[in-house]
Amino acid sequence: MKINIIFPGRDVEMGKANMPVMPLAPTLLAALTPEAHDVSLIDMFYGDEPDDDADCDLVAITVRTPLAMIAYDIADKFIAEGKTVILGGPHTYAMPQEAKQHAAAVAIGEAEELWPLILEDVHAGSLKDYYVCGPYKLDTLNGTVHHQPNRPDLANLPMMRRDLLPRDRYLMDSIFTTRGCPNFCRFCPVTPIFGPQIRHRPIDEVVAEVDTLRQRYFNVDDSVFGHPQIVDRPEENQYYFDLYKELAGLRPKRLWSGAGGLSALNYKDGRKIVELAAESGLCSIAAGLESLTGAGQKQSGAWRKLHFTSPDSFEIQKLKDNIRNIQELGIEILGFFVIGWDEDTPDMYQRTLDFCDEMKIIPFILTLTPMPGSPIYDEYLEQGRILTELSWDAYGGDAVVFKHPTMDLEVMSALNTQVLREGFSMGRILSRTFNTFKHRPSLGVALNSFFTQLGIGKAFRQQIEKH
Ligand code: SF4
Repeated sequence: MKINIIFPGRDVEMGKANMPVMPLAPTLLAALTPEAHDVSLIDMFYGDEPDDDADCDLVAITVRTPLAMIAYDIADKFIAEGKTVILGGPHTYAMPQEAKQHAAAVAIGEAEELWPLILEDVHAGSLKDYYVCGPYKLDTLNGTVHHQPNRPDLANLPMMRRDLLPRDRYLMDSIFTTRGCPNFCRFCPVTPIFGPQIRHRPIDEVVAEVDTLRQRYFNVDDSVFGHPQIVDRPEENQYYFDLYKELAGLRPKRLWSGAGGLSALNYKDGRKIVELAAESGLCSIAAGLESLTGAGQKQSGAWRKLHFTSPDSFEIQKLKDNIRNIQELGIEILGFFVIGWDEDTPDMYQRTLDFCDEMKIIPFILTLTPMPGSPIYDEYLEQGRILTELSWDAYGGDAVVFKHPTMDLEVMSALNTQVLREGFSMGRILSRTFNTFKHRPSLGVALNSFFTQLGIGKAFRQQIEKH
């Protein structure tokens, strides 16, 4: 069969602020496709356009919530041309019945074992309505279902098909080494989708794959330092020791970025993990701090990943110490904050920017977007707080989609715009770049920091000007 895999996107999107990173989902799906098929990839995020007249038999589309309406529109056009459309991705986990209205079949959960089976069923003319991997409320699905109860083992995965996209278009390749997250942050659908157990890819397979990557890559794992709840297990620590030692030995040595828990230096052996990661080329981490208040930590559930024993034990000084300790190892921090927890007040936007200035961390200050599939979305929906009249287009981080108990939605939007604009002034970018150079006197790392921030600031400004 001729298969067209589409990764939807739109011109200006907050997610683009993360810099041009080659998307993982379509390259992985292409890799999982048996050789007998002919596969092509469309990455709309970085400029490709789908062609509904294309000569193909089957179209697979990734559905992420902010782009769901675009994905459905593309799907409908292909269906009108007589193509078989399969939808998958995080949004189909949360909204399978909605997705089914735009597809011959909907995949829910991880693709490794589902995708080859879907292709077999298409070929045999026995396609089911839903293909589900992992624990799921099957009785909510109305139609025929194939259910794979266990999540896939991550050994023996084929190399991602990066060759199917123009690599020069991206500043960074992407890779993953683990899946699963034990943190259950209440605004995030990752734990429900991928489960609380951490599954690891074999180290030799990761290293062989990194050896094919270019100078820079992004590790999309939820935490590249492990997780507080399990990292004291010796075998868990050993995975990271061995992985980073092997990666440090690769030549040329790559620079890489990822998401990481700031509390890593508090675990037994955590310092060694972070130091080895830095030696293997880690130059920056995205860290979800989520809130500067105990109430925000409690409502978000983020206190677990920050390694506090309870929300009440949250201490700002400990957060500052963790930030400084990581920075002193030459690792730059992009701090992700969410404003809009029930006890937040309008001054939280400026207070959070002031904190980022003081700590010299790159400010990702965003208003809460309760994502479908997360516990907080279900809770707000039940309480009538989700603005259900808004379409999924509003879920890109640039609009307020829920009712806050005290803050006015327009005030929230205006304050968010203001801190994003100020947070990426040239003075602040230079000050943070200098701080990075002070801790890691490498011209390459400093230039990486400067241009990354410039790119993020530009993406935020484009987003702001659109509104
Ligand atoms: S926000 Fe990060 S740490 Fe929290 S559940 Fe999601 S992936 Fe895990």
